Amino acid sequence: MKRCLVWFRRDLRLQDNSALLSAIASGAEILPVYIHGVNQPKQLSEGGASQWWLHHALADLDAQLKDVGADLYLEQSDDVCEALCSLVREYNIDAVFWNRRYQPDAIKLDTDVKKQLVADGVEVESFNSSVLNEPHAISNLSGRPYQVFTPYWKRCRDIEVPILTDVNLDAARWVNATGRDLDMLSLLPQIPWDKTFYKTWQPTRKAAKERLKLFSKKPVREYNIARDMMSDDGTSRMAPYLHFGQIGVREIYHYLKDSGETVMHGYVRQLYWRDFSHHLIYHFPHSVEKSLRPEYEQFPWKNSEEMVARWRKAQTGYPVIDAAMRQLWETGWMHNRARMVVGSFLVKHLLQEWQSGADWFWDTLVDADLPNNTMGWQWVGGCGADAAPYFRVFNPLLQAKKFDKDGEYVRRYLPELAKIPGKLIHEPWELTEIELAAYGVKLGDTYPERMINLSEGRDGALNAYREFKERVK
Ligand SMILES: Cc1cc2nc3c(=O)[nH]c(=O)nc-3n(C[C@H](O)[C@H](O)[C@H](O)COP(=O)(O)OP(=O)(O)OC[C@H]3O[C@@H](n4cnc5c(N)ncnc54)[C@H](O)[C@@H]3O)c2cc1C
Repeated sequence: MKRCLVWFRRDLRLQDNSALLSAIASGAEILPVYIHGVNQPKQLSEGGASQWWLHHALADLDAQLKDVGADLYLEQSDDVCEALCSLVREYNIDAVFWNRRYQPDAIKLDTDVKKQLVADGVEVESFNSSVLNEPHAISNLSGRPYQVFTPYWKRCRDIEVPILTDVNLDAARWVNATGRDLDMLSLLPQIPWDKTFYKTWQPTRKAAKERLKLFSKKPVREYNIARDMMSDDGTSRMAPYLHFGQIGVREIYHYLKDSGETVMHGYVRQLYWRDFSHHLIYHFPHSVEKSLRPEYEQFPWKNSEEMVARWRKAQTGYPVIDAAMRQLWETGWMHNRARMVVGSFLVKHLLQEWQSGADWFWDTLVDADLPNNTMGWQWVGGCGADAAPYFRVFNPLLQAKKFDKDGEYVRRYLPELAKIPGKLIHEPWELTEIELAAYGVKLGDTYPERMINLSEGRDGALNAYREFKERVK
């Protein structure tokens, strides 16, 4: 009997998994493998919070495989290509199946692996299992990649999204082999900063499906409004499950369509934003490190470690920003509206490079995702495709009063301000010392003074933008 290897990467599920489905259909015995790369470049590794998620997602995949009589073969190496090829040799594998990735370093690695395997006489088959439309399949009328979302979406929204037939796992035959123990991958933190994550998340496929079911029943219909309210639980929270592929984007699409949603619906549109970020990173690989619009490399950023540190540590003195940064630290997730507000504050009021924010998000988000994070930060910084223009500066106070009207979000994450009633909480500096004392707050002591005056920050951003425009004229 022939043997094949299914190489799991960001597709940690057994259903809606094209590579696995084809492996089963081939009738060969299957070795399911995950290789953890050590000392890899950023694009092929995870930040701290994502490592936490990965640990649990791998445990969950292994449990699902055990239910059908198989084991996930875990390997760890600083040379992933060599590790995979030697497994292929050791287990006499005839064919390797995987689902494609679209980030530049991942494409390079997959190309190297394929070259090596083909040279060794091993068959390689790859598939799409992580996006609605693959980046190379979509181009505008001139045959060029899209850089603006709306025409991209109009082009894509009518393209049929295939439904994968259910995988008959009972028909699968497995190669019985055990690799490393999951704990040996050392993905969980040594210092237990992850305690609060357990209260927020269940990083399993079952939990993803339950959450989607709940979401599709109510808030999804009110999504367009609820998704902006920072204290509401109005979004799906599918991002980490989607990133690790514990649930497939096609599965979500069809589940919602079947429950009466249309592709025009605001939610499904967001799934196309996710596809769009993959499209951008694939066609403009330089945008991983640098601004998609190259002229922004000449922008006069201030680059102050001290400012970035205060932002990271939730010490800006602006309650809505600090609450969002605490939400990120405590839960590994931040509301989308809050991501835009803290991002704009860092890049515009504080004039820090977008990369310094992207790096922190990379380390602290459980849904840290190279295409989405890069596009999100470049959108905020005005230097990416379809980005908010640089001169549009979000006012965090107005954002707070609009999207956290009663201060509930701030109260949840900044207990030191929790006694301040209603929306007064957004501007503690407007309160008298007597009022502050009554609420148990001492500015500069129990809560920091504002690190910057908003109008000065805004003027600084606009002046820098004018200087930049002169420079690149
Ligand atoms: C500065 C910044 C950084 C970001 N970094 C990331 C990141 O690292 N990983 C990440 O997945 N998203 C990122 N986003 C996009 C967005 O904030 C998150 O996808 C969303 O908040 C995740 O929560 P959710 O699953 O409840 O989203 P929902 O609102 O329920 O949306 C459903 C899904 O659609 C996709 N989606 C939603 N909004 C966007 C968007 N603006 N761009 C691309 N895809 C979107 C996501 O896959 C999401 O899970 C970032 C946005 C900004 C402004």
